[in-house]
Amino acid sequence: MSSLMNMRLLLFVLSFVGLGVLINLLLNKIKGKNRYLAKSLNNRYASFLFSIALTITTLLLLANFYVYYGFDYQPDIYRRGSSQSNYVALTFDDGPSPEYTPLILDILKEKQVKATFFMVGSHVKKYPEVVKRIIKEGHELGNHTYNHVNIPTLKYNDLTQEIIQTNHIIHQITEEFPVYLRPPRGMYDARYRRLAHLLGQRIILWTISGRDWKSSTSADTIVSRIVNKAKGGEIILLHDSGALIKDEGGNHMALIQALPSIIDGLQEKGLEIIPLKELLEEAEGEDISHLELNITE
Ligand SMILES: [Zn+2]
Repeated sequence: MSSLMNMRLLLFVLSFVGLGVLINLLLNKIKGKNRYLAKSLNNRYASFLFSIALTITTLLLLANFYVYYGFDYQPDIYRRGSSQSNYVALTFDDGPSPEYTPLILDILKEKQVKATFFMVGSHVKKYPEVVKRIIKEGHELGNHTYNHVNIPTLKYNDLTQEIIQTNHIIHQITEEFPVYLRPPRGMYDARYRRLAHLLGQRIILWTISGRDWKSSTSADTIVSRIVNKAKGGEIILLHDSGALIKDEGGNHMALIQALPSIIDGLQEKGLEIIPLKELLEEAEGEDISHLELNITE
């Protein structure tokens, strides 16, 4: 393990323990004032377990916030287009898959909808014919790393390699340079952002996810998850390969069943599915109007 990874792991463990201690202290304080809580957590063991559960929940909420909103000013990261528009974009991650991507392409062709495929470099190398078909049918491509790895845990050399190698294999097969990057699981860091800037690639995250990588998710659930929530300007995340811990394969039949209804449902809501590049033309920068900038003084 590299020293950087050791450092990051150590920081993570320290933050986890620190947060856990803080939550435990707070809990003990509240317990002193709340009879019901004091009764339910009357022994140390229950109190300790409850604190750990609260710590994990807090971390998951923070991680969710970091993926969906970010913690700082991020004009270089795109999570949506213009919320004033009625446009949405469809994106598919983790492919190409020889099994599911062609089925998705058939549906998109029939519905005359264009999408963007964020592909894993090693899958591109294995299934070049699928990639060629994606391009031939007018869809867009993005880089989703070579091995579907978590960006913040990589050494800088490996991070660079993951991005460059994927750009290279996509270019070799399609003669096109992928203008988009998407980090696996939405986990990016400053090095990734700087690299994207240097390479002229835009980092694209998403607004809503079908969470369709779970094999237990039914087609109806995916449809309602997307169609009920979707609003103008949103970038929708779906998967043509991969599962919870596997980078490739999984069972995506529920998505294949759901996709025609997702497209119909979005259109019935008055939303127009357009290519990502068009959606981004109208993307808003981060709102800074509240900062009261006065450059004349
Ligand atoms: Zn992924």
